[in-house]
Amino acid sequence: MSSSAHLSNSIGVSLVLVDVQNDFLPEGSLAVPSSSKIIPPILSLLSKKKYWASIVVTQDYHPPDHISFADNHEGAEAFKAIQVDHPLLGRNGEGEKIEQMMWPRHCVQGTKGSEIQQDVWAMLANVRQQGEDVVVVRKGDDPKVDGYSGLSDNAYSRFTPFIRYISANHSTAGVQRPSTDIAVVAGLATDYCVVSTALDLLKYSIAVYMPLNCIAGVSEETTASAITKLRSAGAHIFDTHEEVMVAVHAEVERRRGQEGNWMSSFTKRQNVIWKAS
Ligand SMILES: [Zn+2]
Repeated sequence: MSSSAHLSNSIGVSLVLVDVQNDFLPEGSLAVPSSSKIIPPILSLLSKKKYWASIVVTQDYHPPDHISFADNHEGAEAFKAIQVDHPLLGRNGEGEKIEQMMWPRHCVQGTKGSEIQQDVWAMLANVRQQGEDVVVVRKGDDPKVDGYSGLSDNAYSRFTPFIRYISANHSTAGVQRPSTDIAVVAGLATDYCVVSTALDLLKYSIAVYMPLNCIAGVSEETTASAITKLRSAGAHIFDTHEEVMVAVHAEVERRRGQEGNWMSSFTKRQNVIWKAS
């Protein structure tokens, strides 16, 4: 399929890679258990480069004084939540508060830990060189508030360019790309940034497909509850990326069929009008 076929077919399928960064991988400062298993299937998804309307990569990107780091709060312990000022409504402890999980220092701007995993990054560079649409969305860059979702900070006080970018037809390398109707979401960690990003995409009526072999979570309990939450919100979750691609393909065909049906009923109505006149 040529890239220009995307627009004429009009249904945009995009790949969303959440925080596939060194600090969340083995040997990182906030290593997610079993995270290394996701790299080969993600590379396989990336290799279907012509399939994607856009590839959106989120990157956790914190300043050193970030609110989520346990060592920035006196007496705070990593992996325990505390109450912090709301970024807009907080008043130095007097105004509105929000819950903030304390994390070990991770994904600090400009560090090796903040970089996208090297094989994934090399493949993205290659795909981009071939004229495909790759965009990196940085998040968590405000010291006063964390940002799990690729679309917004945790208090919904400031949005990233993510949704604006994938909601519009746009052109890269001289090729028209459709807006995103369907997103295949993969990355780290299932129970925090993946679930938040996927739920926000669903709010914009973007269908979400997730392969379990391309995601991994911080803890078993929160991962299980994230999956339950995602399923009840309408996300389509499968064991493998192969199963996801089959299901996405069927969904694209179904939607094209619907467009066809709509056209044929429109044509029928036209016929009736012409007969009547
Ligand atoms: Zn973070």
